[in-house]
Amino acid sequence: MAAAAKKTLAVWKFSSCDGCQLSLLDLEDELLTLADRLEIAQFLEASSATVAGPYDVSLVEGSITTPHDAERIRAVRACSRALITIGACATAGGIQALRNFADVEEFTRATSRRLRLRLRSAPTFPSTSSSTGARSTSGSCSR
Ligand code: SF4
Repeated sequence: MAAAAKKTLAVWKFSSCDGCQLSLLDLEDELLTLADRLEIAQFLEASSATVAGPYDVSLVEGSITTPHDAERIRAVRACSRALITIGACATAGGIQALRNFADVEEFTRATSRRLRLRLRSAPTFPSTSSSTGARSTSGSCSR
């Protein structure tokens, strides 16, 4: 009797910091156990090798923030038997969703104003070359 084909798992990234995928990679021993039972067909954070779908399970990290993302997530859904969102970005929009509740132009103006204020205060900070600037000075790394 032929052995049953392994179920396939795909991991996808959208707008995100990659932290959820890194958390998956932190499950080193468990991932090795899973790899005996599942074919990890797509997980670009772990390997550039990919296997074409369809996939039994897709894990999705990140939020949908562009029309291109919307097109991609529909394609991922279409080639996945089950799709599971992981993390706050994928499940609730994450920090990217803040733009849904405010005027992006206002954010941009506020950021620029703050940057201008910081630039004006820059002379109060020690000015160093980039090589000495990499060292800890005035205990700034101990805070
Ligand atoms: S939920 Fe979003 S911000 Fe949090 S670790 Fe995952 S990808 Fe990063």
